[in-house]
Amino acid sequence: MYFDIGIFFNKMETLQKIKTLRDELNLFNYQYYILNNPTVSDFEYDKKMTELISLEAKFPEYFDPASPSVRVGSDINRDFKQIPHKYQMLSLGNTYSASEIKDFCNRVEKLVNQQVKYVCELKFDGAAISLIYKNGLLETAVTRGDGQVGDDVTENVKTIKSIPIALTGDFPQQFEMRGEIYISHKNFETFNVERVNSGEEAFANPRNAAAGSLKNRNSATVAKRPLECFLYQILGDNLPSDSHFENLQKAFQWGLRISPYIKKCQSFEDIIEFVDEWDDKRKTLPFDIDGVVIKVDSLSMRDEMGFTSKSPRWAIAYKFKAEEAKTRLLSVDFQVGRTGAVTPVANLEPVHLAGTTVKRASLHNADIIASLNLHYNDMVIVEKGGEIIPKITGIDTTKRSVDGKIVEFPHNCPECNTPLLRTEGEAAHYCPNDIDCPPQIKGKIEHFISRKAMNIEGLGSETIALLYEKNLVQNVADLYKLTTYQLSPLERLGEKSAKNIINSIETSKSVPFARVLFALGIRFVGETVAKQLAKATKNIENLSNASFEKLIEIEEIGDKIAQSIINYFSNEKNITLIQSLQTAGLKFEEEDSAVFVSDKLKGKSIVISGTFSRSRDEIKALIEEHGGKNVSSISNKTDYLIAGENMGPAKLEKAQKLNINIISENQFINIIED
Ligand code: NAD
Repeated sequence: MYFDIGIFFNKMETLQKIKTLRDELNLFNYQYYILNNPTVSDFEYDKKMTELISLEAKFPEYFDPASPSVRVGSDINRDFKQIPHKYQMLSLGNTYSASEIKDFCNRVEKLVNQQVKYVCELKFDGAAISLIYKNGLLETAVTRGDGQVGDDVTENVKTIKSIPIALTGDFPQQFEMRGEIYISHKNFETFNVERVNSGEEAFANPRNAAAGSLKNRNSATVAKRPLECFLYQILGDNLPSDSHFENLQKAFQWGLRISPYIKKCQSFEDIIEFVDEWDDKRKTLPFDIDGVVIKVDSLSMRDEMGFTSKSPRWAIAYKFKAEEAKTRLLSVDFQVGRTGAVTPVANLEPVHLAGTTVKRASLHNADIIASLNLHYNDMVIVEKGGEIIPKITGIDTTKRSVDGKIVEFPHNCPECNTPLLRTEGEAAHYCPNDIDCPPQIKGKIEHFISRKAMNIEGLGSETIALLYEKNLVQNVADLYKLTTYQLSPLERLGEKSAKNIINSIETSKSVPFARVLFALGIRFVGETVAKQLAKATKNIENLSNASFEKLIEIEEIGDKIAQSIINYFSNEKNITLIQSLQTAGLKFEEEDSAVFVSDKLKGKSIVISGTFSRSRDEIKALIEEHGGKNVSSISNKTDYLIAGENMGPAKLEKAQKLNINIISENQFINIIED
């Protein structure tokens, strides 16, 4: 038998490519549906999906029923009860091109062998919901889940004012209503500001906020979230009409919130008119849409056309590309952060984009600036994908002015003029002058006083900047020399606030050693590492004298952290600073104060990530009270990852790779309360 080794290798390569695409898409699905934290744009996701579908079509021998190309991305969360869908809840075939809409029209007309009427609707960008009404009352509300079963979120949905609990008029005795839960731009902005002010992480976009809120375990919390809903589909045995459009008009009369952005279309040309109209007008809508859904109007024709494993044959989504706008680059700020990392941020001529006015865009690092070949005064293209701060994706070079100078990354720190460093393999540039560089000093003071560190209240970043400029505070030890007399004449303070600040500074002297260590802001020494260091070394003398070898023996401490600690204590200025803080009366010794409740987690290393119904500190305390160890990063020694809302995707990926037990907050509570 003749065996072609070339063909064999090609096929192996293809199989590998298919596997890689499936793994990537499964991960993106998890990040998008479960964590509500996508890491790629929809466009990039859809490109990979199209590539996978075309490879699977060419190589049917590699068919896999579990492939993301044939399964609906699941949002199932075991914290909720699962309810089966009477009618499966699928995805939609999608396209970014008008010619594929034409193909869709040809396809459906061929399937029923006659002219077809269409309905065009907006594709709301939120979270899908299925509502079951019985005898005019909302009985259950279920998420899409995996298409066959979904999560029971009835209690949460009952708090949404635009979803009626009771209907009026001549409604069918039992039917299902489908729709999309979303948050408007304006509500999203206010809600996110409140969230950040209360110390929680901001949601990246309204879709994530809506989907995340729907899955919150506390319906009282959900009631405070500005969720709204548009309903776009009715299903049941005794519907008023064979026309989808007519049924929606009826549902509106029963009190259901039907989208007014809907049009009956007779032809491909009609459809394109609607698509073009909304591609432009979507900028004026108070909420996000990501495209237009084109549906066959007749329900009996839909029955004839049926479904593929993943989507109905009678509908298609035309997706808009992420919104872009062109505007002028005015300048670039090179911002120096607390750790000395220099981040370039573009200042733009204000432009309206995806419901907000954009004035700044991220440029990330020197490599991105170089790859864009960015010049001052360039006409740049800004895009708002899922991220909070928009990014510059391109340049209209035809509009480049002759005298526009190229944007160069500075060689020296824009704040203190120290030559910048770039560690091999890292994208960021750093200013190494952590002792005298003003933003680093101010940043260090802000970190020092923060809630999880010394928890000094009444000092915002503006007051810190003022104290620094007036030469009252040049380092964190100076805070302990401040007097009410010095503070009260300062802008926006007065005697009462000044006294409160001084009291809070005084109280901070009783903050335990581990938090003081965290407050010092030693590079790579976060909260958990600081706790491990405090526990292992007991006091600052032992820590400052510890050798590299001794340090890496401590749980959680690797080469990078150990080296950073050695560097910190080898700097005389840091030693002097610690001496001043010791003189001021701060705690530099560990006190044994851990409360012991049980040893259910004895010997278990636990990582937590994301936000929970309790504060993260409470969860960490519970872990320790039950004999477990809080660990900040995942390794093969980790026993559990407790996953919350909006958890970091990198952590998740690593946990999955290492086969770590991923549990929810509820499951964790069950373990300790068992
Ligand atoms: P879909 O794009 O296939 O569309 C189906 C959904 O559209 C429905 O579940 C419904 O919620 C919604 N919808 C809004 N308005 C509607 C209307 N008028 N009529 C009918 N449905 C309407 O959604 P999907 O299956 O959840 O997701 C697939 C898409 O999601 C992908 O094509 C991709 O663009 C995006 N996605 C992105 C990532 C990422 O990481 N960026 C990950 C997964 C999925």
